[in-house]
Amino acid sequence: MSADFATIPPQSVRRDHSAGVLHIAWHDGLAAAVKYPLVRVACSCARCVDEVTGKRLIDITDIDPLVIAQELQGVGSYAIRIQWSDGHNTGLYTWPQLRALSESSVA
Ligand SMILES: [Zn+2]
Repeated sequence: MSADFATIPPQSVRRDHSAGVLHIAWHDGLAAAVKYPLVRVACSCARCVDEVTGKRLIDITDIDPLVIAQELQGVGSYAIRIQWSDGHNTGLYTWPQLRALSESSVA
């Protein structure tokens, strides 16, 4: 039931700078290691996605391949904010977004 993940947070979100990945573990056993640049490019803030058209304004070639998640910050009970080494920190990553990233990196 993917809808459950709209409200259930991941069990853990852990940074691994040496591997350059975000480890995301879920209650159903799904565990993913998502490359930092793939998380960074999935940002859905107004600078990364056009608010009117929904069109993504950045793509993977715009992202520093060595970008690092410097800090994770909980936002309410529905999302995390990531402070990136490229200075970007305006994007929220909701549980469904992190779930989608996890599923796409496992498959
Ligand atoms: Zn953004």
